[in-house]
Amino acid sequence: MQQPGVDKNLYKGVWVYAEQRRGEVSSIVYELLNEGKRLAEKLGTILSAILIGSNIKSKAQELINRGADKVYVCEDPIFAEFQDDPYSSVLTQLIEKEKPEIVLMGATNMGRSFAPRIAARIRTGLTADCISLEVDPETRNLWQTRPAFGGNIMATILTPGHRPQMSTVRHKVFKEAKTEEGRKGESVEYKIDVQTLLNRTKFLGFIKDANAAMNFAVADIIVSGGRGLGNREGFKLIKELAELLGAAIGASRAAADLDWIPHSHQIGQTGKTVSPKVYIACGISGQIQHIVGMNSSDIIIAINKDAACPMMQIATYALEGDLHEIIPCIIKEIKSSRR
Ligand code: FAD
Repeated sequence: MQQPGVDKNLYKGVWVYAEQRRGEVSSIVYELLNEGKRLAEKLGTILSAILIGSNIKSKAQELINRGADKVYVCEDPIFAEFQDDPYSSVLTQLIEKEKPEIVLMGATNMGRSFAPRIAARIRTGLTADCISLEVDPETRNLWQTRPAFGGNIMATILTPGHRPQMSTVRHKVFKEAKTEEGRKGESVEYKIDVQTLLNRTKFLGFIKDANAAMNFAVADIIVSGGRGLGNREGFKLIKELAELLGAAIGASRAAADLDWIPHSHQIGQTGKTVSPKVYIACGISGQIQHIVGMNSSDIIIAINKDAACPMMQIATYALEGDLHEIIPCIIKEIKSSRR
């Protein structure tokens, strides 16, 4: 059903929101540019990136090198730190002016926070946490697939009567676009009247999570602990193994809920989605809500007493036994192999 008053023919082009923090473009942007390019080519249209920040225009060429045909740059000191109000106001204005048919954003803390505000303001649909996208060149509808009902089914959602079609996409479901140095593209500065931007918040400061030793997005190896660790002390073993392997530390929700580790380490449906080369699950049973967050890992190693639990069933290597015996053996082996 087409929304009354929406002329879908006026909407053209695929957009990727180029998320950045303190001038550092997030790697999800390069993943979205890769997928956005494929969709744009299928629709016979162009791919644009939207860069919002302060002193940020130098990043536009990098986005062009990664596949953007056009970059809209919105620069002002008000955008130095992410705040929902001014960011969603300016992106809303830009969408209303330029009328893209698809807008892709990362399903990151930032994307999850301000994408719904924009969708509500422009009265369109938003599909959150997509893990696959496809377009129908005839209807130009975007097929947005995401896990539903706790990951038990995959739902494909369409926005047939409204434009633009907006999705947030999970990290690591698409490969990053390759860099083509010196690629040609257009960079357009979007002039903003900051007086027109809503801003009800004041940025006071940024406090880094001191426990988040490594960013999951860049970790090749993740060592995760669950309730099977027995107590908070169990995470000392996980930490020791992770340090030896140069790995990030993950956790099940059960472990985080028990306050053995901060929730920022939680992996799964209500935590982070990860896709490392190696995922080591220690004392994690592998309920569906955990599995949806890590099952695209290249190699899964499970350490568990219960050979029949789901994690042991999906593991590439399943080590059956008490983790308090197995992990110290692995640590000992690694240490002796490095002597
Ligand atoms: P358990 O299921 O209790 O498993 C413990 C495992 O440790 C068992 O397999 C046991 O055999 C093993 N074990 C015990 N002792 C040892 C030992 N000494 N050596 C070796 N193995 C041992 N969970 C998440 O992880 N992430 C999410 O994002 C998430 N979101 C959720 C969202 C909703 C809406 C709901 C309802 C639930 C969600 N959950 C999530 C919770 C999820 O359903 C499970 O409860 C949770 O993942 C279980 O964590 P666990 O595997 O650590 O604990």
